[in-house]
Amino acid sequence: MDSTQHITDATILPPKVEKNVSLQQYNTFRFDYQAEFFALVEDLMTLKSLVSWAQQQNINITMLGGGSNLLVCADIPGLVIINRLTGCHAKEESGNRISLIVGAGENWHEIVEFTVQNDWFGIENLALIPGTAGAAPVQNIGAYGVEVKDALARVQVLDRNTLDVYWINAQDCGFAYRDSHFKGQWKDKYFITAIELSLKKRAEFMLSYGGLVNQIDGEPSLKKVFQAVCQVRSSKLPDPKVLANAGSFFKNPIVSMAQHIQLKKSFPSLVSFPHGDAFKLAAGWLIDQAGWKGKTQQGVGVYEKQALVLVNHQAVKAEPLLELEANIKANVLNLYGVELEREPVQMPKPNEEPQT
Ligand SMILES: Cc1cc2nc3c(=O)[nH]c(=O)nc-3n(C[C@H](O)[C@H](O)[C@H](O)COP(=O)(O)OP(=O)(O)OC[C@H]3O[C@@H](n4cnc5c(N)ncnc54)[C@H](O)[C@@H]3O)c2cc1C
Repeated sequence: MDSTQHITDATILPPKVEKNVSLQQYNTFRFDYQAEFFALVEDLMTLKSLVSWAQQQNINITMLGGGSNLLVCADIPGLVIINRLTGCHAKEESGNRISLIVGAGENWHEIVEFTVQNDWFGIENLALIPGTAGAAPVQNIGAYGVEVKDALARVQVLDRNTLDVYWINAQDCGFAYRDSHFKGQWKDKYFITAIELSLKKRAEFMLSYGGLVNQIDGEPSLKKVFQAVCQVRSSKLPDPKVLANAGSFFKNPIVSMAQHIQLKKSFPSLVSFPHGDAFKLAAGWLIDQAGWKGKTQQGVGVYEKQALVLVNHQAVKAEPLLELEANIKANVLNLYGVELEREPVQMPKPNEEPQT
């Protein structure tokens, strides 16, 4: 693999940069592809110098966190940076608020745990979501009726062109369902280096989603809600350390009111939720009803307890999973007239794939 013209074998690599490194342990699907150049970065100065080096060499830069929302399908040309920027500082704000500034490479679940231990409210429903704090705004992670945008004040970014570091207010980040400008117009512009959460000191719970309320005995407390979320998630979702997966493989599709009425007529037990003046369908229900739950083929499959999750039992490369995805999508389209959209991010981007 060598997609670059500027780097020869004789080029001296900066400290921390390695060549041709397997990414198998850096993506939770455990697919075995290589990074052409690879660096694990723990501080901002090193990050800046590596971005500057890659620019001088005219090579692509890909930033990864925990690799839990990725579908790596080929070797990644250029420099792959694993974000491990650390730091976690709390500051009392006036009134009911705590500001928590978190380095982008911190483990998200450990941050949630830390806020619960300190009796700070706001992100307890987002417990056990794998990955890093810095990736949380990218797809605006969400679970049990809460999205990270609800507790996010600002996002600190490194501008990839100027190498300036500055804060962007959360309301300017284009947050939507599993979406933000970081996935869209800012995809090649910024790396997230830290986030600032705005948490509450007084209780305010969101318990109306996913049967959470039924898991709590008596009066809800922060610890009870956190434990209920962890319990429900562990009972439904595979732990990527045990069974390779990237969480929900498809987004819940959004359909018009007219299409929803038609679908409800044909499938009265359809699971759906109002979404503005449209409806969000439970993609897991569509796949489950189509008979895919628990099916396996060529070492990959559909998780037996949750049809929205595709799992890798023993495939080394992504082709079998891509085939399974295509089969499910075609079947769902055929049955319900609904197009499923993939949630994990494909790497490398199709236009960056190495030429053979
Ligand atoms: C078992 C399981 C359950 C899950 N449950 C949920 C859930 O309930 N809700 C939910 O929303 N998601 C869920 N996910 C998906 C995933 O955990 C989240 O999307 C998470 O935020 C990804 O974090 P990461 O650090 O692993 O990002 P990665 O997978 O490493 O990266 C994801 C994308 O973000 C980009 N990126 C990463 N870090 C940065 C950065 N610092 N700056 C700029 N771009 C960056 C990457 O380039 C890539 O495009 C689940 C995944 C698994 C495996």
